[in-house]
Amino acid sequence: QKSLTKRRIFLPHLVASMQKMEETYIMIKPDGVQRGLVGEIISRFEKKGFKLTGLKLFKCPQELAEVCALSPCFCSYFCREHYKDLNSKPFFPKLIGYITSGPVVCMAWEGDGVVASARKLIGATNPLQAEPGTIRGDLAVQTGRNVVHGSDSPENGKREIALWFKEGELCEWTPAQAPWLLE
Ligand code: ADP
Repeated sequence: QKSLTKRRIFLPHLVASMQKMEETYIMIKPDGVQRGLVGEIISRFEKKGFKLTGLKLFKCPQELAEVCALSPCFCSYFCREHYKDLNSKPFFPKLIGYITSGPVVCMAWEGDGVVASARKLIGATNPLQAEPGTIRGDLAVQTGRNVVHGSDSPENGKREIALWFKEGELCEWTPAQAPWLLE
């Protein structure tokens, strides 16, 4: 009887850990990496209680980095595809140059409502309009150097994770803290 009660208490967490929760793609942009903000940014998502399921550094080969902004090439493929909805904007070439200018940290995070919540943690696109307490509000000053990306919808979360991660690079696991986060 005792062990049955115990199992009942922990069952929701087992079920939650087996179900695929909402996912989002978070990327620390080259300025975030160069400014040594990787630990700080990851820490904000970790502390909130989301689950990290994918993490890697992606670096455009040095010899290609300079031409990426001007002409489509292998390493800019990912950013061009990623930002394809913005390709008619005047700042698009600058954006591709920025994202391909150095290593980025690609991350997949999972959790209930993670897409909208991550956008709140990140803050407004223009860091001067982002609230204090948000990543951009605390750590950045310009739209063109706003340190981090977060998917804007669950559909884009899936699409961007599939774009930046290869099969086998994502990790399914159950955080030990699950019963202390989810009732
Ligand atoms: P967000 O990243 O907040 O979802 P958008 O999808 O509108 O914002 O834009 C994508 C990225 O393009 C921004 O994070 C920023 O790096 C860049 N960007 C947007 N608007 C401008 C602009 N006016 N000038 C330069 N870069 C911009």
